[in-house]
Amino acid sequence: MVPVMSALPLVFDAPRRGKPPRHLADLTRDEARAAVAELGQPPFRADQLARHYYGGVTDPAQMTDLPAAAREALVGELLPGLLTPVRHQEADGGRTRKTLWRLHDGALVESVLMRYPGRATVCISSQAGCGMACPFCATGQQGLTRNLSAAEIIGQAVAAAAAMANGEVAGGPGRLSNVVFMGMGEPLANYPRVRKTLDALLTPAPHGLGLGQRSVTVSTVGLAPAIRRLTDEGLNVTLAVSLHAPDDELRDTLVPINTRWKVAEVIDAADAYARRTGRRYSVEYALIRDVNDQPFRADLLGRLLAGKLAHVNLIPLNPTPGSKWDASPLPAQREFVARLRAAGVPTTVRDTRGQDIDGACGQLAAADQVDGVPSVAVAPTPSMEPTVELGAEGDE
Ligand code: SF4
Repeated sequence: MVPVMSALPLVFDAPRRGKPPRHLADLTRDEARAAVAELGQPPFRADQLARHYYGGVTDPAQMTDLPAAAREALVGELLPGLLTPVRHQEADGGRTRKTLWRLHDGALVESVLMRYPGRATVCISSQAGCGMACPFCATGQQGLTRNLSAAEIIGQAVAAAAAMANGEVAGGPGRLSNVVFMGMGEPLANYPRVRKTLDALLTPAPHGLGLGQRSVTVSTVGLAPAIRRLTDEGLNVTLAVSLHAPDDELRDTLVPINTRWKVAEVIDAADAYARRTGRRYSVEYALIRDVNDQPFRADLLGRLLAGKLAHVNLIPLNPTPGSKWDASPLPAQREFVARLRAAGVPTTVRDTRGQDIDGACGQLAAADQVDGVPSVAVAPTPSMEPTVELGAEGDE
C-alpha cells in the first residue's frame, strides 16, 4: 500500500535572508583582483590568496608569501569563515565522514565525504533545506530555508579536499577526486550559484580545485528548463536525474515537481544533454518498499530508457527515524535490477555508505532539529507558483 503522500507545496523562490559576507570564492578572478587592489594590495595577491584558500589554508600565519601586515586584512575581508563545523560523524571504519555545518545565520547544512579505493567523493549541499517537497525525504519535509551562496557551496568541497590532504579520513593523506551535488537542496533551483561552483571546482589552481568534468555530478529532481540551460553551457559534467518513478501518476505524488515537468519532458531534456555531451546520464531511483519497486514499474522504466544513453542507479531507501517509508527488500531489488538489465538498461545498485550515521540526504540536520539544536528552517510559503526563470534572482 502506498503511504499517504505529503501535501507540502513546491517552493521555487528561496526566502530572502541576510546575505553571507563577501568571500573570495564568490568573485571572478578579475573581481578578486579588484577587491585586493581596493585593500591597497597589488592585484596578484588575489592569486596568492586563492591558492591558499583552495589549498585549504585559512590561517593567516601560514600565508608566508603575503606581507605580515596585510594578511589579517586580506583574510578578514576576503576569506571570512562561512562554514562552522557543528560536528563530524564517522562510519565505515572512518572512511565516511559526515559534517554538519552551521552557516552565518544559523542555517544548518551537511556534506558527506566518502573514501573508496582509488577515489574520494564529497556529496555537497546547494540549499539549506529544499523546496521540492519529496515526501520520502527528510530535507524535503523541512521546506526551503534559503539558497546557499557560491562560497558556501564551494567551501564544502574545499573543506573536503583539505580533510583528504591532511589525512583526516581513514587511509592516510589523499586527494579529493569527485564532487556530487546530492546533499540538501535541488542544485538547479539555485542555478547561478551552482554554476559558479562548477567553475570553481573545474578551474585549475590557483582559482579552483582543478577537478575533471567527469568527476563532477550535478543532480536534479527534474527541472527541465534548467537541464536545458545546463546543456547550453557547454560543460561536460555528469548529469544525474532523480526519477524515482517511471509513470506520471506515481511521480506526481512521489516527486511533486513532476506536476510541473512530466517524466517525458525531463527525459527529453536529459537526452538532449547526453546528445550534446556524448555522455551517459544517470537515472537515480530510490527503491521504496511497495511504493515504486513493483516488477511492472521496472518494466515501465526499462521501456522508458531502452536504447537511451542512460544508466540506472538504484538506491535502496535509507529510512529516516520514524518514517513510514522503508527500503525495498532484497528480493524486490534483485527482481528490479534483473528486469532493467533484461530491457538492455545498464543498472547498478548504489553502495549505501553511512547507513549508521543517517547517511540519506537531510537526515543529520533533521535530527538536530529534534535534538533542539537551533535551526532557522522556515515553513514553506503556501502554494507559490513556480517561476520559469529558475534561480535567476537578479542578485548575482
Ligand atoms: S529528494 Fe532531493 S529534491 Fe526531493 S526534497 Fe529531498 S533534497 Fe529536495
